[in-house]
Amino acid sequence: MRLTRYFLPVLKETPSDAQIVSHRLMLRAGMIKQASAGIYSWLPMGYKVLRRIEHIVHEEQIRAGHIPMLMPTLQSADLWRESGRYDDYGQEMLRIKDRHDRDMLYGPTNEELITDIFRAHVSSYKDLPLTLYHIQWKFRDEIRPRFGVMRGREFLMKDGYNFDIDKDAALHAYNRHLVSYLRSYERMGLQAIPMRADSGPIGGDDTHEFLVLADTGESEVFYDSEITDLKFGDRAVDYDSVTQCRAVLEEFTSRYARTDETHDEALFHAQVPEARRRSARGIEVGQIFYFGTKYSEAMGATVAGPDGTRTPVHMGSHGIGVSRLLGAIIEASHDDKGIIWPEGVTPFHCGIVNLKQGDSTADTACERLYSALVARGLEPLYDDRNERAGAKFATMDLIGLPWRITVGPRGLDKGVVELTSRRTGDSEEMSPEAAIGRVAQIYAQP
Ligand code: ATP
Ligand code: MG
Repeated sequence: MRLTRYFLPVLKETPSDAQIVSHRLMLRAGMIKQASAGIYSWLPMGYKVLRRIEHIVHEEQIRAGHIPMLMPTLQSADLWRESGRYDDYGQEMLRIKDRHDRDMLYGPTNEELITDIFRAHVSSYKDLPLTLYHIQWKFRDEIRPRFGVMRGREFLMKDGYNFDIDKDAALHAYNRHLVSYLRSYERMGLQAIPMRADSGPIGGDDTHEFLVLADTGESEVFYDSEITDLKFGDRAVDYDSVTQCRAVLEEFTSRYARTDETHDEALFHAQVPEARRRSARGIEVGQIFYFGTKYSEAMGATVAGPDGTRTPVHMGSHGIGVSRLLGAIIEASHDDKGIIWPEGVTPFHCGIVNLKQGDSTADTACERLYSALVARGLEPLYDDRNERAGAKFATMDLIGLPWRITVGPRGLDKGVVELTSRRTGDSEEMSPEAAIGRVAQIYAQP
């Protein structure tokens, strides 16, 4: 993309109404624009990152054997009356009447809708296990929407639902989700720690929340510092293997890590030596639940077992805050100049800065670099504006592309351009070909 042809409405002023750094940077970098309280338009660059995150989530869910689909945002109140949650959900639910005076709602989550689909089409244990998921906009009429996309009213969520014949099979689905979530967050350059949590209005006994440590997080968390040394890395886990998935769960959840809702000070002291006890703030970027037969019993979602008797299916639901993740990633990865995108989610793979726009040698070299990168399957952002070098660097630093190639007549005389890492600030001179090779290598799939 050439910057002169793109739509990147960067703000010069720091927006005064944004309280936390990720919100300020998303506004300044022209990624979002508030449409009304807690509701945002996703401007092109924000939308690009949103899509990258969504893509990682899809890939990892599909890898785990979960099946993508799409349910609507608007739902009929009837199903929620069946489960008993229409009255329970309270004011966070946006209730709407259609022209026939029927009660509708903008879905805050989808347990009812998916259970209705299941009971209509599945009747035998032979069709299990089954995990369906979608990535769809949700609406929760939060009392205090704030922090930009972190606590919106309309937000994008991945929610998945497993249907299993018994508790053991459902717990395998739970563990499988834990593994796929660890992989997903790491691909986004994030460390998200699974913590024992409270199940809230969804109900059920087993639940973990995934928290990204950040001072601006809304949750208070308590954990054993050893947990931050754990990396999922590139290990191969067979998602069908009950033992392999359970081993990952045990490794990542055996140490003390809880949100304030489930924190137990006495247990914390008993389990964790003082030097390793930490309390901090965290951003919840996902949650997994096993809730057994709560919805299947209320809504009659049963399957016939081998002997023909019908039993309610065991279920769980599993959510990732896709739009909140943009804020969480920026909170975890920025400096005083702007965003520092992890390579896994960056909107463009690298920036090209032309130090002397209009100089035919520099212009030609930039055009060549640009086409060569595109030919390698990469997406560069070429700053081809007639601007001073300082202004171009400031924009690149603000929008946070991990790599920048700087091209100017003086370097070209020596046959070199400069490759700079946004994270370390380190620059290296090399031939344009070498720079292309390096960038291609950084983004090469293993
Ligand atoms: P919270 O405690 O932050 O209100 P929750 O526990 O009610 O969230 P879940 O029902 O577990 O949320 O939803 C799954 C994920 O969706 C959460 O882990 C979070 O990342 C994201 N999410 C929930 N509410 C919002 C919101 N208002 N804005 C953006 N993302 C949200
Ligand atoms: Mg939650």
